[in-house]
Amino acid sequence: MTNPTARPGARSLLVAGGGIPGLALALALKQAHGPALAVTVCDPGLPAGGARQRGRAYAVAAGARRMLERLGAWARLDGAAQPIHDMAISDSRLSDPVRPVFLTFAQDREGADPFAHMVEAEPLVEALLAGAREAGVDLDPSGVARARPERGAMRVALADGRILTASLVVAADGARSRVREAAGIGWVGWSYPQSGIVATIGHARDHEGRAYEHFLPGGPFAILPLTDGGRLGHRSSIVWTERTADVPALLGGDPDEVLAEIERRFTLELGELSLEDGPSAHPLAFGLARGFRAERLALLGDAAHVIHPIAGQGLNLGLADAASLAEAVSDALRLGMDPGGEDVLRAYERSRRFDTLAMAAATDGLNRLFSNDVLPVRLVRDLGLGLVDRMPALKRFFIGEAAGLRGGQPRLLRGEAL
Ligand SMILES: Cc1cc2nc3c(=O)[nH]c(=O)nc-3n(C[C@H](O)[C@H](O)[C@H](O)COP(=O)(O)OP(=O)(O)OC[C@H]3O[C@@H](n4cnc5c(N)ncnc54)[C@H](O)[C@@H]3O)c2cc1C
Repeated sequence: MTNPTARPGARSLLVAGGGIPGLALALALKQAHGPALAVTVCDPGLPAGGARQRGRAYAVAAGARRMLERLGAWARLDGAAQPIHDMAISDSRLSDPVRPVFLTFAQDREGADPFAHMVEAEPLVEALLAGAREAGVDLDPSGVARARPERGAMRVALADGRILTASLVVAADGARSRVREAAGIGWVGWSYPQSGIVATIGHARDHEGRAYEHFLPGGPFAILPLTDGGRLGHRSSIVWTERTADVPALLGGDPDEVLAEIERRFTLELGELSLEDGPSAHPLAFGLARGFRAERLALLGDAAHVIHPIAGQGLNLGLADAASLAEAVSDALRLGMDPGGEDVLRAYERSRRFDTLAMAAATDGLNRLFSNDVLPVRLVRDLGLGLVDRMPALKRFFIGEAAGLRGGQPRLLRGEAL
């Protein structure tokens, strides 16, 4: 069977992978071009909706938030987004009696644009799916088995045996992208000996929008504020990096023992704690595709790059990819050009390569610098943190970087229409 909307000559986009960046791209292009562009998202996980990501939460940077606002997805979250107003960074051993704070990033709460919001994945995915349905995106609950160029279009074989055609295929099918591998695009990567443990923690005292990052010898332990709720009234999400070899011992006990391990790291600054959701452990890796395109194919999100979650930027990079690719495709369509043409894909790759490399190198370097307990390294990094803390201009620069608010950004990240 061939999809009727993608006749040879008609403009059509097929996104393999309905994660957050894939859905955002599909929604942006369908909203902007309506019937002039057929948009299909294929993902075997679609029937489960946002529930697939239950218990996960993301720090969504200001630029990505503006894009989600422009797409109407932010309004659908219905308040399920907690602004991060300030952040405190400490560096200590687990046994240290106090956690000296070396660096704080505080924002003026009146009128200031928060540099990030914490958003739970489930409502975010649901908001994007609702927008996509309303805009007329075809949501197809089938996996993509193969895609190859054939006579001026892409021929896409689905796992259920159907064949679709598209002017452009976007591989948004995650780190182990089948579509990327089938296209023969190389991958440079390695596994970290670390896992990221995520959980939702309830606490008795209000976090007041403050995030904490405790650099501990096993890796960073981040406490990220969520909207109120849960058994104790207030909640935070933790992203706890540990050596993978230590994870079974840390998480293998009964829930009280697991909570006790969390308390040792979380401290009781926010009062009594409870385990609201999780924990789940995710092995961490680094990876970068050798190129972000092939004939009529673009890579997006984790299919193009996987970075350490130390700075909470992986999804933000994927949303920036979606904003750039949507802009390149949209501009081509307005000029009557082929959306899968080489010029379009080259422009996309050029716009994303530097940003991605810079962020990948920065997060890898930060992790190496902070996930160890060698005394001279600790002294130098604490001196560095202390210096940054005394330099307001440098702090503003770091906040701008983390918020994705540098110049030269695609229109959607600036909150403008495509
Ligand atoms: C512990 C941890 C914490 C993190 N915290 C943050 C954070 O705070 N902020 C942030 O910005 N980032 C964060 N990240 C990174 C973020 O999770 C990822 O970058 C993001 O989820 C990538 O989205 P994706 O859609 O590209 O890939 P995925 O989320 O892997 O989605 C891929 C999709 O493709 C589908 N799929 C797979 N194969 C096929 C196929 N053959 N055909 C069709 N569909 C297919 C899957 O079902 C899935 O829906 C964190 C990561 C980790 C590990």
